Amino acid sequence: MSTPAPGSDPPWQATVLTIFPDMFPGPLGLSLAGRALDIGLWRFAAIDIRDFALDRHRSTDDTPAGGGPGMVMKPDVLARALDAVERGDRPCLLMSPRGTPLTQARVADLAKGPGIVVVCGRFEGVDERVIAGRGLKEVSIGDYVLSGGEIAAFAVIDACVRLLPGVMGQERSGLEESFADGLLEYPQYTRPQSWEGRAIPDVLIGGDHAKIAAFRRQEAERLTRERRPDLWAAYLGGARDGEKNTTER
Ligand code: SAH
Repeated sequence: MSTPAPGSDPPWQATVLTIFPDMFPGPLGLSLAGRALDIGLWRFAAIDIRDFALDRHRSTDDTPAGGGPGMVMKPDVLARALDAVERGDRPCLLMSPRGTPLTQARVADLAKGPGIVVVCGRFEGVDERVIAGRGLKEVSIGDYVLSGGEIAAFAVIDACVRLLPGVMGQERSGLEESFADGLLEYPQYTRPQSWEGRAIPDVLIGGDHAKIAAFRRQEAERLTRERRPDLWAAYLGGARDGEKNTTER
């Protein structure tokens, strides 16, 4: 990891709007993301949505119009919180199970930009009008329901931060891992060479780099075909267009 050069662009910046600011930076303050934060490769702020409530109880939610269970986050309070953020050109994401599923391609795109503003929903979600009124882009981290957007925000920010220049020790590791070329990553091994009667495949210790690359490609293709028919079909589609070179069809 390397410190940014003096006079370089302002670092990538994540601002999270939440009613639980104490959860942050949490896991983002440790390990790879935490060290990068410490040395200024990215910046982080958590905004307490409750600070923008005007009533005595500092309420951020109210009952759903039309009835039904749970509570809905109020548009006026959330909009005031958003308007207090210096957004610049940063996209404003709303964590939501209804959103566009997050992909590595989207993450790479977000990491290339100036940063992100992330709104964490709670309860039944947020009033629809603030989504339209502030141009929030709904993003989902998967087809399951969390109790709040904070854990989803950790996922999005962590995925972006590890792609920022200087954050990953070996820049190459970002290019070779799962999804980078439409395939899942090949299996990894490390010492000891034999463990509980299972050996590391011979080709990986033979030192022939072309053979190693071919083995890894074949394994990546096998795993993708077995586990992710959706990715595999897309990959074969790309191969037919002459973009890719598969070892097996
Ligand atoms: N009633 C909503 C779910 C609300 S869950 C629905 O059925 O769509 C409460 C909050 O958790 C959401 O507002 C969102 O911010 C967050 N959340 C839950 N699941 C999520 C997911 N899969 N991806 C991103 N955010 C999620």
